[in-house]
Amino acid sequence: MSDPRMTCCLTFDFDAMSVWIGSYRSTNPSEISRGEFGGVAIPRILDLLALRDVPGTFCIPGHTAYAYPDLVKRIHDAGHEIAHHGWVHENPADFDEAGERANMERGFEALEKACGVRPLGYRSPAWDFSERTTDILQEFGFLYDSSLMGDDYTPYYMRSGDKAPADARYEFGKNINIVELPVTWTLDDFPYFELDDTGSGLKPASHVEEIWRDEFTFAHTSVPGGMYNLTMHPQVIGRGHRLMMLERLIDFMSGHADVKFDTLGGYAKRWADANPLQSWLTSGSIHAHSA
Ligand SMILES: [Zn+2]
Repeated sequence: MSDPRMTCCLTFDFDAMSVWIGSYRSTNPSEISRGEFGGVAIPRILDLLALRDVPGTFCIPGHTAYAYPDLVKRIHDAGHEIAHHGWVHENPADFDEAGERANMERGFEALEKACGVRPLGYRSPAWDFSERTTDILQEFGFLYDSSLMGDDYTPYYMRSGDKAPADARYEFGKNINIVELPVTWTLDDFPYFELDDTGSGLKPASHVEEIWRDEFTFAHTSVPGGMYNLTMHPQVIGRGHRLMMLERLIDFMSGHADVKFDTLGGYAKRWADANPLQSWLTSGSIHAHSA
């Protein structure tokens, strides 16, 4: 079978309480309970994916795997991909090297205990990186990362050794053998819907549906062979009217010619097989830097 014109990756970051504890540093039980709703939403999301017969990728912090081992096992048993998503939705840059490595280990250990999986993919909490994160991902042998924003529908190989001083020119590092599946806040449910102290959130699902459909139409028309990487959070997309929107969006995308729904790992493998690092370096990609 030839490669599809467009691959849709529905990804769900099952942060549960960890995003409020780790990213928002909250101790407020009411705020933290917003994450608990994620556990309510998971079975609904699994039902929708089963109904439409499409796979998903679930990025899960270790903290969530300990809180909801049965749900994590259920996600895995339904055939969806499990990806690493940190320990407690921490910003890796808040830790020293040993601490960052320890968070990575704790995440692996919790997922292993909950469902026996050692993930091939990583998505950093809130898409934050420390200057060491890329090298740590390489040490742990990840196939792909899905946290950076250097492209939209086209993957690229990550780089190690970029230097970004404010008082000198930018220096690109060298590409390494980890596929970057880029993300964007535009294709993320959290900033549109979740009310926080930035004053954003609670947008009508129909507005977001319009943006997400147009992004898909543009990608399908203009970037053949690419991927549509949609990031959602059970605690956000799991509200009734938003889930109805997601169902319509899946049907909209399915209605286009030559579209495949795949996991991030499935797409990353296909892309890496078709674009091995050494040949990709001469592909003319603006992300390619061999020295
Ligand atoms: Zn997250």
